[in-house]
Amino acid sequence: MFTIDKYVVAESLEEAYELNKSKRNAIIGGMLWLRMGRKKIRTAIDLSALNLNKIDEDDESFKIGCMCTLRDLETHENLNKSFNNIFHKSLKHIVGVQMRNLATIGGSIYSRFGFSDILTALLSLDSYVELFKGGIIPLNEYVNMPLDNDILMKIIINKDGRKAACNSHRISATDFPVLTCAVANKENEWFVVVGARPMKAKLSTFNLNNNYEKDDIDNAVLKIIDNISFGTNIRGSKEYRQILADALIKRNIDEILNGGYYAD
Ligand SMILES: Cc1cc2nc3c(=O)[nH]c(=O)nc-3n(C[C@H](O)[C@H](O)[C@H](O)COP(=O)(O)OP(=O)(O)OC[C@H]3O[C@@H](n4cnc5c(N)ncnc54)[C@H](O)[C@@H]3O)c2cc1C
Repeated sequence: MFTIDKYVVAESLEEAYELNKSKRNAIIGGMLWLRMGRKKIRTAIDLSALNLNKIDEDDESFKIGCMCTLRDLETHENLNKSFNNIFHKSLKHIVGVQMRNLATIGGSIYSRFGFSDILTALLSLDSYVELFKGGIIPLNEYVNMPLDNDILMKIIINKDGRKAACNSHRISATDFPVLTCAVANKENEWFVVVGARPMKAKLSTFNLNNNYEKDDIDNAVLKIIDNISFGTNIRGSKEYRQILADALIKRNIDEILNGGYYAD
């Protein structure tokens, strides 16, 4: 069981940052993951009074405050319209609506979980994190940075015209995924993300000429799978994950190119 000695609603990001410098204190998002652990938190720092629970859109990008819930992203009409519904599709498998109404995007992306559905989806897009002290960093860089005491303020997604598709495989509905996958395409460039390997999501890229053939796709996918490491855990073996990755990547490419059999 985790415990909290003191609870503070931060009045500014500076105050939250100063409090979060101590390893015994912790920022709280939806607190769903924190409460699964045994951490003895001296001061829990609540960011909910800092206006960070909004999704702002302009011509260039979406800016998503860290206190937005996963459900906010799942149901945001323009966000989903802009990226072929991948937020709805990747998030709908996580436990249930009540849970997704509490879990925050800040807590989810800060944690960089290997099994993360949303990290997989976001990595396929032109996504960034905005940190209070660290500034704006590409998500693909942030994903491999060590966990530190900076505050993740916002997620930024540029509207660069990518078409996207995502899917995952679970042993049973609402369980953690065995594998997650997202693919995006902009002109000849393809962005392929495979997560829950069971290690955290990894982005790979490849190019296709205008006059590509099916073999070109098969070879590109083969090369990507050869260059990604997979592992074994209670949900599946390394070999099973390799086979799944091949199928999920190709289904997503098919969905982007042809509407695909698996599109919903
Ligand atoms: C039972 C269960 C099943 C789940 N299944 C899945 C699943 O199938 N797929 C999936 O993708 N996810 C799954 N999740 C993860 C879930 O979707 C959330 O990602 C997770 O709960 C973290 O979000 P939170 O808001 O609860 O974070 P919290 O628990 O509040 O915080 C998590 C960590 O992030 C830190 N933190 C929070 N906000 C910030 C911030 N703004 N800046 C810096 N640090 C911050 C906290 O200090 C803490 O260390 C599951 C979680 C649970 C509990």
